Amino acid sequence: MTTGSRFITDFGLILPERLDLLKQIASVAASQSLPLFVVGGFVRDLLLHHSVNDFDLVVEGDAIHFGNALVRKYGGKLTPHQKFHTAIWHLPNTSETLDLITARKETYLAPGALPTVTPATMEDDLRRRDFTVNAMAIRIDGGHFGELLDPLNGRADLENKIIRVLHPKSFVEDPTRIFRAIRYEGRYSFTLEPATLSLINSESISVIMRLSGERIRHELDLVFEEENSSQMLLRAGKLGLFNAIHPKLPMFNPDYFVFLEIDPILDIPMSRMEIGYMLWFMDLMEDDILSIARRLDFSSDMTHSVWAVSQLKKSLPFLVNSRPSVWSLALENLPLLSIYVVYLVSRESALLDYLSIWRHVKPHTTGDDLKARGLTPGPRFGEILSQLRAAWLDGDLESAQQEQDMLERLIKLN
Ligand code: ATP
Repeated sequence: MTTGSRFITDFGLILPERLDLLKQIASVAASQSLPLFVVGGFVRDLLLHHSVNDFDLVVEGDAIHFGNALVRKYGGKLTPHQKFHTAIWHLPNTSETLDLITARKETYLAPGALPTVTPATMEDDLRRRDFTVNAMAIRIDGGHFGELLDPLNGRADLENKIIRVLHPKSFVEDPTRIFRAIRYEGRYSFTLEPATLSLINSESISVIMRLSGERIRHELDLVFEEENSSQMLLRAGKLGLFNAIHPKLPMFNPDYFVFLEIDPILDIPMSRMEIGYMLWFMDLMEDDILSIARRLDFSSDMTHSVWAVSQLKKSLPFLVNSRPSVWSLALENLPLLSIYVVYLVSRESALLDYLSIWRHVKPHTTGDDLKARGLTPGPRFGEILSQLRAAWLDGDLESAQQEQDMLERLIKLN
């Protein structure tokens, strides 16, 4: 057995059905004489006594061959990826899937590029990872169940609450690890070991410029999903990462940190990540927002939502004290979440009224009613309906009869 091995016996934080599944998978590995390991975040969180349910499974051998054996024994379906020596096992009778990975070595042909992968031992596989605390594995096949593989002393760093890279070129090879380090530091209140911290320097930060927008955005998305995202954003800003992403990317306004932690109060879909970007870019110039959105490879919907926030915030002074129908007209084509975010920072009550009441207001009259009255469908239809709606919104109508009377007047004008 390799250095640093020890048996882990406390699996009490895994749901019993997950542990059963793990044992079933392990029995197939044992029958095939394939060393099988759970790795990475699973081991880290298990040792930290956090609840764990997602497995990262690594086989020292052929993961596709192993996946086929699982399907033969338990059913389900396998999607193999020959190129990466991985497979996805679609478990029987559920929509759940499990990733099966072949232990591998990685070589980086250029800083910031994606690595070239070749099959290897579990220990090699651990040596390609980001931090010592993520570079542990627990072997689970047969009599090996619970054997900890810890060649890089991750367990000691975990106990000392330290984030440490595995080698000095780690951040240059892959600067997404800088963001990962900041996330673990903030999530677990760990400390970046001094030599590791000093490796976040101009050399590694400059490689961030070469990362694709998609890879950077993925890292930022993950930050927004964290409970301590404010602390992480502050740290990333102070380390000078934002400027390397885009020269116009500002520090996150600390006045807005509080809104990252909001509890949804309305029936509109909330996304911490979307709210995060909206708050971050809201006070920028339009051109800068669009340029940053391109750099981060935002979808057109996301770009529109972020842009809408900045536009709405800028137009608030012109809308204040308007009638509800005017507010509604200004807001009706904007994403609901964008309106909500502007409400958060401005506390303009009309925005909340729009989101909770005004947007649901409709006249009793419908297009079919107008047709039944002999009107030919056309733009005038829409005009009549919106005039009725505006009258309801502004309190000019209070009963169905009043609406009928108004409708008669409008039809006569036609
Ligand atoms: P989290 O709780 O943040 O999801 P995790 O450890 O499960 O943590 P994943 O992103 O799912 O994180 O990655 C799984 C494992 O793969 C990590 O524990 C780490 O060992 C390894 N890993 C992930 N990203 C990298 C990277 N950029 N460089 C090296 N190893 C990585």
